[in-house]
Amino acid sequence: MSKRIPWNKGLKIGPNLEHSKIMKGKPSGFLGKHHRENTINKIKETHKGKHYSLKTEFRKGCISLRKGIKLLDETKRKISFSMKGKLKGIKLSEEHRKKIGLALTGRKLSNEHRKNISLGKKGKVAWSKGKKLSHLTGKNASNWKGGITPLYTSIRESLEYKLWRNAVYQKDNYTCCECEDNKGSNLEAHHIKPFAFILKEFLQEYNQFSLFDDKEILIRLAITYKPFWDIANGKTLCKDCHKKQLLPQERNLQCQ
Ligand SMILES: [Zn+2]
Repeated sequence: MSKRIPWNKGLKIGPNLEHSKIMKGKPSGFLGKHHRENTINKIKETHKGKHYSLKTEFRKGCISLRKGIKLLDETKRKISFSMKGKLKGIKLSEEHRKKIGLALTGRKLSNEHRKNISLGKKGKVAWSKGKKLSHLTGKNASNWKGGITPLYTSIRESLEYKLWRNAVYQKDNYTCCECEDNKGSNLEAHHIKPFAFILKEFLQEYNQFSLFDDKEILIRLAITYKPFWDIANGKTLCKDCHKKQLLPQERNLQCQ
């Protein structure tokens, strides 16, 4: 940029007191007008990186002047009173909500804080009271821990299951018993007596345990339940041949 001579260079001009006296209390001539985008950018550019007052500006790593100053209970009450209702109705953006959620996960509340929350909630009606929350309960809830599918999945993902499957492949020389396909990645181990039947019998035998509360116990029992792991009940099939032999309910379970 070429050197510009400021318009007031050399002139001795103080604040125009006369003018400011006249203008006092009157609306500024700029009221309601806007700078052009061009001008705004220019203003931004001139202010960039400038520091006006070390006293007031925010500096990274510096400790706020107010830090350590404890507000009187009276002051706190006043602030709280003045803020009352102000945040209500302000809708947070999705991103903002996510950030808050992230910040709050895993935080540990002190006993005092918990007590305060519980006191604050006393006598208030829960937001969910009386509402039908079918989308949040039972198997739709994200923390659902019961039902036959999780048990089924846990068994199918266990080490025992992998060992059983490999033993079946080995017995059949890694070849589909129906079409003699022997591409390794295309093979699956099929239960001659369907897995779903064995699971049903297993659950009948251990019906004192609940699918909801005793899932961990049931998984441990399943690991020791021999019919699941009978190599003679296994048959190596390719994916296509396997699909043809699966029961409809097993197909459903496998899709989940
Ligand atoms: Zn096949």
